[in-house]
Amino acid sequence: MKSALITIGDELLGGYTIDSNAAWIGRKLMDIGIRTVWKLTVPDQKDDIVNAMSLAAEKADVVICTGGLGPTRDDITRDAYCEFTGAELEMDKQYLDELSARFERRGVTMPESNRSQGLVPDRGSVIPNPKGSARGMFCSVDGRWICILPGVPAEMKGMMEESVLPELGDMSTSDLFVTNIRTTGVMESKLHDLLDDAMNGSPVSIAFLPGFSGVDIRLTSEDESVVAELSRGVYKLAGKYIYAEDWVTLEESVGECLREKGVTLAVAESCTGGLLGDRITNVAGSSDYFLGGVVCYSDEAKINLVGVKRETLDSFGAVSEAGVAGPDGGTEEKPVGLTCFGLDDGANPFSRSVTFYRDRRFNKELSAQTALNSVRLRITGQI
Ligand code: ATP
Ligand code: MG
Repeated sequence: MKSALITIGDELLGGYTIDSNAAWIGRKLMDIGIRTVWKLTVPDQKDDIVNAMSLAAEKADVVICTGGLGPTRDDITRDAYCEFTGAELEMDKQYLDELSARFERRGVTMPESNRSQGLVPDRGSVIPNPKGSARGMFCSVDGRWICILPGVPAEMKGMMEESVLPELGDMSTSDLFVTNIRTTGVMESKLHDLLDDAMNGSPVSIAFLPGFSGVDIRLTSEDESVVAELSRGVYKLAGKYIYAEDWVTLEESVGECLREKGVTLAVAESCTGGLLGDRITNVAGSSDYFLGGVVCYSDEAKINLVGVKRETLDSFGAVSEAGVAGPDGGTEEKPVGLTCFGLDDGANPFSRSVTFYRDRRFNKELSAQTALNSVRLRITGQI
């Protein structure tokens, strides 16, 4: 099964909002074996939306649209959907009552503009929206499926997870097996060389997807057993660099390792300015293993908050394994981007230095990534 995506909104074309919806939907569809073959972004104009729907339906079996469903936009997307599908609207009195009761519970009268959200098409199905008031719509036209969803990412995701993906999963006949193996701490080219033997002659389609903090290896085939076989090969040759599969993040993986081993973690950060603690606490339940952290940015903070000796700072400088994010401040021996890490698990203290690039934000992100990865490698006995 193939899909096409349409994202709707002037703000997407103007660059004020980054189209994260299409990226998220594309990934989720791939996970259930549906390949996205086409994507279009159109303005908040009914004619453009109807045209896009027609073009998309020529390319794919299922067309998913997001945006333009809020109460204030003259319901452009819903009107376009009705024009394209030939559906007529009727008022869902029950939903309207529910909606006005929701407003009343918040102590406000439902604005007149929200009334239109009670309108439902006379064909296809309505997709409930647990997080908002704009419901989605889904129906089949000449053997193609079309679905409209709100643009607000949290609402769209909830509706996809709860309604659309399960339904499409049942419909999807193409058995596409996908494994996404996530690595960090290794360059794409080195990974490629490492895996050469395993990839040679394998019928699996392999994609290397580098991000700034790691490389994902995506294995795709209609034959589940060849994906599993290649996946075993990848683990054998590059196991040290693999931290998770699918869309699990490094902080989730580290959290899982800590929980499994019953180990707690505390951090002292300097150049990352709290980013490490931020990432660790993005994981629900992190209080089970994360004790806390300090940001000791100045020399005084290093001395007073984490007990670095003044003599250590005087002899080695603040950027040292004993104790410069850029863009200024580097020297020949200590270039901008030089970052030092230390890890103490009470048994084998460990330290290392890495030089990253020149961009300040980049250095912070990579430093936090490297620190988290060091924790993973130590807990799993790999360093
Ligand atoms: P408005 O655009 O005026 O808020 P609307 O009725 O068009 O109202 P939607 O387009 O469904 O409402 O949702 C709007 C919100 O969702 C905006 O905050 C917008 O930035 C965000 N949004 C819309 N499309 C996308 C997208 N493709 N990716 C990420 N965010 C999006
Ligand atoms: Mg919009």
